[in-house]
Parts: sequence; structure tokens; C-alpha cells
Amino acid sequence: MHDTNYAEFYRRSVEAPEQFWADQARAIDWHRPWDQVLDGSRKPFARWFVGGMTNLCHNAVDRHLPERAGQPALIYVSSETGEERTYSYAELHREVQTMAASLRALGVEAGDRVLIYMPMIPEAVFAMLACARLGAVHSVVFGGFASVSLAARIDDARPRVIVSADAGSRAGKVIPYKPLLDEALRLSTHPAAQVLIVDRGLAPWDRVAGRDRSYAELRATHANDAVDCVWVDSTHPSYILYTSGTTGRPKGVQRDTGGYAVALRMSMEVIFGGRPGETYFSTSDIGWVVGHSYIVYAPLLTGMATVLYEGTPIRPDAAVLWRIVEQYRVNLMFSAPTAMRVLRRHDPALLTRHDLSSLRAIFLAGEPLDEPTGRWVAESMNKPVIDNYWQTETGWPILATPAQFPETRARFGSPGVAMPGYQVCLRNEHDGAPVAAGEKGVLAIDWPLPPGCLQTVWGDDARFVNTYWGTYPNLQVYSTFDWGRQDADGYIYILGRTDDVINVAGHRLGTREIEESVSSHAAVAEVAVVGVHDALKGQVAWAFVVPKPGQLPSGGNDALEQSIAAHVDAQLGAVARPQRIYFVSALPKTRSGKLLRRAIQAVCEGRDPGDLTTLEDPIALDQIPAAIAGA
Ligand code: ATP
Ligand code: MG
Repeated sequence: MHDTNYAEFYRRSVEAPEQFWADQARAIDWHRPWDQVLDGSRKPFARWFVGGMTNLCHNAVDRHLPERAGQPALIYVSSETGEERTYSYAELHREVQTMAASLRALGVEAGDRVLIYMPMIPEAVFAMLACARLGAVHSVVFGGFASVSLAARIDDARPRVIVSADAGSRAGKVIPYKPLLDEALRLSTHPAAQVLIVDRGLAPWDRVAGRDRSYAELRATHANDAVDCVWVDSTHPSYILYTSGTTGRPKGVQRDTGGYAVALRMSMEVIFGGRPGETYFSTSDIGWVVGHSYIVYAPLLTGMATVLYEGTPIRPDAAVLWRIVEQYRVNLMFSAPTAMRVLRRHDPALLTRHDLSSLRAIFLAGEPLDEPTGRWVAESMNKPVIDNYWQTETGWPILATPAQFPETRARFGSPGVAMPGYQVCLRNEHDGAPVAAGEKGVLAIDWPLPPGCLQTVWGDDARFVNTYWGTYPNLQVYSTFDWGRQDADGYIYILGRTDDVINVAGHRLGTREIEESVSSHAAVAEVAVVGVHDALKGQVAWAFVVPKPGQLPSGGNDALEQSIAAHVDAQLGAVARPQRIYFVSALPKTRSGKLLRRAIQAVCEGRDPGDLTTLEDPIALDQIPAAIAGA
């Protein structure tokens, strides 16, 4: 039953999905087999492996013990504190049981929520897996968020226990977490949860009597406790994770258990080409979906070692990621274009200072991979750079070039073709009719979403149905809210978000297309283009450009501005030329590295930028009005 080409494999996944996924499901352990592969009785909901019982932690940890108890499971590297420690599968099993026993001692039972607000330390992974072990629902909140964002998520998830730490560290600076958590709990309307603090000895903290515990004490008490996995229904929620909030109020994505395990294990083998015993390194954070799926679950479900890295890509120097690859013989790496653009500002020789012979490929996702950056990485490192496209909602790639089928070669500018089970169709934005090959359409997915995708929005089925399935009232279609274009071979090009389109004197232009053009100018490191209200033309495009260091032409900013304008004219035509080009040293981004265009646009139009809780660096947004005023 081995397909020889991807077209055949994919065809089976969409023509006979129940059989296809039943085959894939045999690769994980089930306590009780399912009665029905797919329950579609309440569309657009889809329930996978109904009647089956399993446990995510069993499949990620316990299942591997007979074969690989002594092999590395979790490799912790902190360039912040200098700590490095490898946990074998047996050690991980021990630590997860101790954490699970501690949570249970605090009253956590199956179905209870546990909020995890942690830096990138092993205890964060132990806590996630301990929740899965108990059938509790984890909700990891990115450690960079401050009190207001945290309070909103506490109110939404209503956790029984919050696991946190005294502090994190970023670029060498200690960032206390506990005071932020105290403030969040003060702001929250949810009755005081129990708090479990992992004390790293980085920052002093105040203990609230009756509420706060130090993990060191519970860990000592439960050091030898055995905690069995709690078997749960396949459809039992495993976690809640909030989307990045790029386009508005974050949505609490709720994931199941069985479908997620099956899809992720398949994805690691088929899409990433990862094999048991190998080492996977994702530079993401456990607070994001990439961290959930490709730091924690997919590598461990596959029996791989996974690297948990606390630090930035440029400290102590811009070779630190490659030092880790060399030292731990990393086979596959997953990062984001934004990290590569940061490295691109440094000496390319740093990319090859270390022995990278173990590394087979670098996967990038989360935002559009611009061709200059993609080529720069691929050519300077001589490794394949593989773009892949997905969302917090889907949990694993929608588009990619699957490593297991080398005939689907990566093409610059496209994340690739539809992944198994995703019936991707580009549709007309008004009536949902499929668009012709080569034409731009909304990237939509026909029901059902494959296993592993969101079950619903936590506590808000109506929002799930209305937001994602309500675009075309007559069709059962999930909208990604991204534009795409498909070529004759099925490769899809992402053309930006549906709300990133601007209308200049009757011409509809994608800000993403203008950005592509500006960023292909030799002196440009990064750019954001937004549409700004204009009394005459409706909207005009403004560009905010981060120049590459040392690339300013002799004529200064004015000369660079003219040269960029001429470049866009030549590539896209004068209609797409930004009306204004401003120079800044950084762009406002979400904590996950996505451009906050809606905030830039609001500032340009003199409006309130709205919810900024996911903003990485407020200074970058302050530069926008300063640049406008100074120009
Ligand atoms: P919110 O939904 O709250 O506004 P968000 O969409 O930024 O936030 P995520 O789920 O983290 O939250 O991001 C998914 C989006 O990121 C996709 O819909 C797409 O716009 C973009 N994206 C992800 N990967 C790629 C890629 N490889 N190429 C282009 N865009 C990508
Ligand atoms: Mg989104």
C-alpha cells in the first residue's frame, strides 16, 4: 500500500478519507479502537475516530520506552543562562509523572484547564505533557505577554491551576513573570486559580498564601510517584491555543486528542521526512502553534529528540543556531522567515562556520517567505529551504512540498501543494465559485477539515461556524482569509490576507505584492506596505522601509526613495508605486513575527491602533508617526 507518487497519495486522502486516515491511525496506540472514522452528522463540525480512546502523552512518551528509554527525547539549550541538559525518554517519563502528580495534588482532573505561562524551560514541556497525561486541557500563553493579555486568556480558559515561573530571560535581561501573573490575576474575573511557580532563582517573588506553591516542594514530594495515563475519547479536547491576533481579537483554537496525534505523526513522516531516533530543532516558542506541534508533539510522537531553545538567534552571536545544529547533530530544522531576515543582516560566513552535515533541510513558516531571503539561506547554506503554509487553526501544514515524495520540488515563492486531506480550492470572493488556474482567489478548504485541525472556538461554537464557515452561505467551505493563486501544476502562491487589499483609484492592489517588489530592491532589509485613506483616490499605498545597514546611496534617503519607486514602477507598474516611502529601523510585529499592518494603517490614518496586546516592541510602532511627522 505504498504510493509511489504524491499525486496518488493525495488523491486517496481526499477521495477515500476514512480509509486513508484509518490507515494513518494505526501508527499510534489506541486503548480502544474507534467505531467511526469520521462523524459528519453536525456539519461544519467534524469528529474524528469517534468511539476511540487514546492518550497523547502515552503516544508521545510511554509508547517509546521499550525501544528508546535511553535515547534523547528533550534537549534543552539556553543561551540566556548557559544551561544545557538532555533528557532521555525514561527521564522525560519520570519528570512528566512527577509534574502530573503535582498537578493532581492541586486538584487537576480530566477536562480541567491548566494555563501554562512559562519561559522556554523543560518544566513547560513537562507541564504540557502532564496535562495530556491526566486528560486535562492545557492552554499555553506566550511568556512574552503582559498582564492584560494574560488576564483575558485566564478569563476565557478559566484554569484550575496556572503553572508559571519566577522569570524568563531575553537577550540577557531577566524578565520577571510572577509580578505580571499577580497583576493578571488581580485583573481577572475568574476566581483565584492555584498557582505553581518553577523557581529558577532569577528573580525574587512574593508568595500569596494559600494560592501559590513552589514546584521544588511538590517535585520533592512526588519524585517517585507513578501516574498512569488517563484514557480519553479521541474527541476529548487536548488544548486551547489562541491565534496570533494579527487581524483582531484572538480566537481560542480548541484541538482534539486522537485526530491531532494521527495527523501530526503523519505530517512528521510525510511532510518533514523525520524518522524515529533523529533530532528535530524548531526555533519557535511553546506559546505558538509551531511550538505545540513541532517542538513538543510531532517529534515526540515520532520518537525523535527535540531541541528546546531559550534565546535569540543572534546571541552570543549570529551563529548560535548553527552551533546547536552541529553539537546535537540536528537533522531537521524549523524556523520563521523573520528569524532568517535577522540573520541576513549579519555576516553570511556565520552560516557555514559550523559543521552542518547532519542537517537535511530547513523549513520556514508563519509568514510569507520572500524570495531574496529564501534564496539567501538556500544558497549560503547549500541546504533546501522549504516554505510551508498553515494556521494556528489547522495545527499542521495546509501547503508544503512533502519530503517523502521528492518529485514535489519546492518552487521559490510558493509554499507548495495541498497536503493530505486538505481539499484546497481557490474561490471567487463574492460567490465562492472556483477561479480558473492562474487567477487570484480566496484560499478555501472544503469540508471536512482533516484530523488535527480545530474542533471549534473554545466556548463559542457560533464564532467557529460564523467566522470560518460563513463566507459562502450555500457552501460547506472553510475560509483561511488568505489570497492565493494556483499554477497548472497545483502549486499555490500566497498573495496576502484578504483584508490586506487596498483600492487605489479603482485598482485593487495587494499590499503583499507591493511589499514583494520593494523587498527585492538590493538596499531593503524589510518593508511594510499599508493602504491609507485618500480623499481623491480612495486609498494610497504607503511603504515603511527598513534599509540594510551600510546600503544608503550617496544621495541619502531621497535617492533611495527614488530608486525604490523606480524599482516598483519597473516591476509592477506606476499604479502600484507607494505614494510615500518612509524609513524606519524596525517594523511593528506580533510576538510571533508577523507584521501588524492593521496597527500601522490605523496610526497612518490617525486612528486608535486597537488591541496591541500581541505587539512585540512598542517602540517600533512609535516610529511610524515619528517617520510621518519627520518626512
Ligand atoms: P489572527 O488569526 O488572530 O489574526 P494570525 O492569522 O496571524 O492571527 P496565525 O494562525 O499564527 O495567526 O497565522 C496564520 C497566518 O499566517 C496565515 O493565515 C497566513 O496569513 C500567514 N502564513 C503562515 N504561513 C505562511 C506562509 N508560509 N506563507 C505566507 N503566509 C503564511
Ligand atoms: Mg488567522
